[in-house]
Amino acid sequence: MKISQQLFKDIFEGPVHSRLVYSRVIVQKIGPRLHENGQFHQMFRNLQHVAGDLNNHMGGMGLGSLCSHCASQPTGGCCSLFMSGETDAVQMALNSLAGVDVHLVCDKGQECVFLSDTGCIFLFKPMFCLNYNCKHIHEKKQAKDVQQMEQLTGRLLSLQYELEKYVLELLVTQDG
Ligand code: SF4
Repeated sequence: MKISQQLFKDIFEGPVHSRLVYSRVIVQKIGPRLHENGQFHQMFRNLQHVAGDLNNHMGGMGLGSLCSHCASQPTGGCCSLFMSGETDAVQMALNSLAGVDVHLVCDKGQECVFLSDTGCIFLFKPMFCLNYNCKHIHEKKQAKDVQQMEQLTGRLLSLQYELEKYVLELLVTQDG
């Protein structure tokens, strides 16, 4: 798959706000086609299902408040402003297609711009965010809960990777 410089920039580079704007372009451009596509539909349903399970599990572990607390510290915690840069337009578009109201929720200069009072607004988080569990989680939460979270995360990561690739290929085809 050969992606043009402009498309790469629109999706992965530039200010987060520009990527957010481009995610809306993606939804307009290919959203209807995606919804008519049976293969995408099935993959997307699986992804939503696993993401829902993971979010419920993380909510049950009380991670939203733990992460928000760290993020409000001077260093910004794991969900720092710097980490907003891990988002991309395809990941945001998938969230929009799942009904998430993707917008900038926080502008305090420390936290990630997508971190609300109850945690991350995304159903499908950036890959880096999904992959990272800080030491507070390991120290303060039960090992069996962390292990279950890691299993769900692994399933979600592989499904999300496949879907993002699928959407990207569609965009590249339309772009060419
Ligand atoms: S995108 Fe979500 S998980 Fe990632 S840093 Fe921002 S608030 Fe945290």
